[in-house]
Amino acid sequence: MNRFTIRNPANGEKLAELEADDAAGVAIKAGRARAAQAAWAARSLAERKACIAHFRDGVVRDLDALAAVMTRETGKPIKMSRSELNGLLGRIDFFLQEVDQAIATQTVFDEGGMKERIEHVALGVVANISAWNYPWFVGCNVIVPALLTGNAVLYKPSEYATLTGLEMTRLLHQAGVPQDVFVPVIGEGPVGAALLDQKIDGLFFTGSYATGARIAQAVGSRFMKLQLELGGKDPTYVCDDADPSAAAQSLADGAMYNTGQSCCSVERIYVHEKIHDAFVAAFVAQVKDMKAGDPMSEETYIGAITRAPQLDVLDAQVADAKAKGGRLLLGGGRLPGPGNWFAPTVFSHVDHRMELMKEESFGPLIGIQKVSGDEEAVRLMNDTRYGLTAGVYSPNGERARAVLARVNAGSLYWNCCDRVSPRLPWSGFGDSGVGLTLSTYGIQAFTRPRAWHLRPA
Ligand code: NAD
Repeated sequence: MNRFTIRNPANGEKLAELEADDAAGVAIKAGRARAAQAAWAARSLAERKACIAHFRDGVVRDLDALAAVMTRETGKPIKMSRSELNGLLGRIDFFLQEVDQAIATQTVFDEGGMKERIEHVALGVVANISAWNYPWFVGCNVIVPALLTGNAVLYKPSEYATLTGLEMTRLLHQAGVPQDVFVPVIGEGPVGAALLDQKIDGLFFTGSYATGARIAQAVGSRFMKLQLELGGKDPTYVCDDADPSAAAQSLADGAMYNTGQSCCSVERIYVHEKIHDAFVAAFVAQVKDMKAGDPMSEETYIGAITRAPQLDVLDAQVADAKAKGGRLLLGGGRLPGPGNWFAPTVFSHVDHRMELMKEESFGPLIGIQKVSGDEEAVRLMNDTRYGLTAGVYSPNGERARAVLARVNAGSLYWNCCDRVSPRLPWSGFGDSGVGLTLSTYGIQAFTRPRAWHLRPA
């Protein structure tokens, strides 16, 4: 067995040393899940819902301790950890309320002695390979509806959020989900790759484009259900009729919340030339006030960079922007350690020759570009291979809708940003992924709709 070390990214302190699964261990776990799935699917939906409701009770009971575990291993500020867990409760409630109607058998035709029905059956054994930045959200977006609909789940938490993944496992098992129906698979990338070699019926992945593309190639010939929720380069356009201060306040939060490590973080801002300077001044003032420091402190807004290698990406984007004429207004480099720290960084005078306007920064780094009007804004917003979210700030709803309707993105925001709702589908265009989670569709995603043609004799 391989051992791997979990460290606190805020100070480098060793938190745990864990044994990773090896390929043989992963195969045994997959076999156990396969053997257990049919009995889980045969239980009534009410029984499965009761388990998830108990799981929710466990999250409520242990919320402060769970937040501390997440903060220590990811560097997420403690208030944001609690906020993620509180937000999770609403997502669980949505799934519990919606699942009955989402997977109810429907009679869609009944004439001349012929009936046609659609039945939703569980996919079977599904694997979830997950990210670290919102481990409860992105994990439970898959795990909760997958279990509710009768699947067994092999769950590989990110190596940067494994202690959280083990807490999730503890609470699910305590809540009555059988040990072989929800099975954690522990380790780094190669353990995820070993999971792909198992006989599974669905693969649900959240992570980077690079890993997603590798996974799609690895499983491509196997025709299993494949969902990939990947990164973004999420743009926002601030129109000339918007209030620059209000837009700056909202967008500074959207860019820097979770230290910019959200898939739907605001990553590029386009501002109409008429209000550009006022917006930039207000934006810089907002970001200047953001307090970086110990993630366990209630005052902290900017936490650690979870993965040390991302610091190199941020350094390279800053150097590239400077070399190509970007104007550095704030920050611009690492903060002193120990741990992984990067100063909130703001550039103006940027353009699309620069990496920071093209590739995901996934950190507290933002470029603000001046535009001449709606046409240029739409063109630039669509000048990307990604398409997760996009936003417009304007008091004029017609104008905002007209702009957003032309932007290729899965989620569209008018006068808001960096927002996910359990009631709405979460999906990406282009290299932001395939498939979706959340909403009624994100429950049905874990089932196979089966067609029944019935002619009673
Ligand atoms: P990552 O791609 O580095 O890792 C994701 C998971 O894949 C981890 O569990 C990792 O161990 C595993 N993995 C690595 N190599 C593998 C391989 N060859 N085969 C199988 N599994 C493998 O991503 P990350 O750093 O954990 O997450 C950050 C990325 O996730 C960002 O790009 C972010 O935008 C994206 N993200 C997207 C969403 C969304 O909903 N679209 C949500 C959260 C994060």
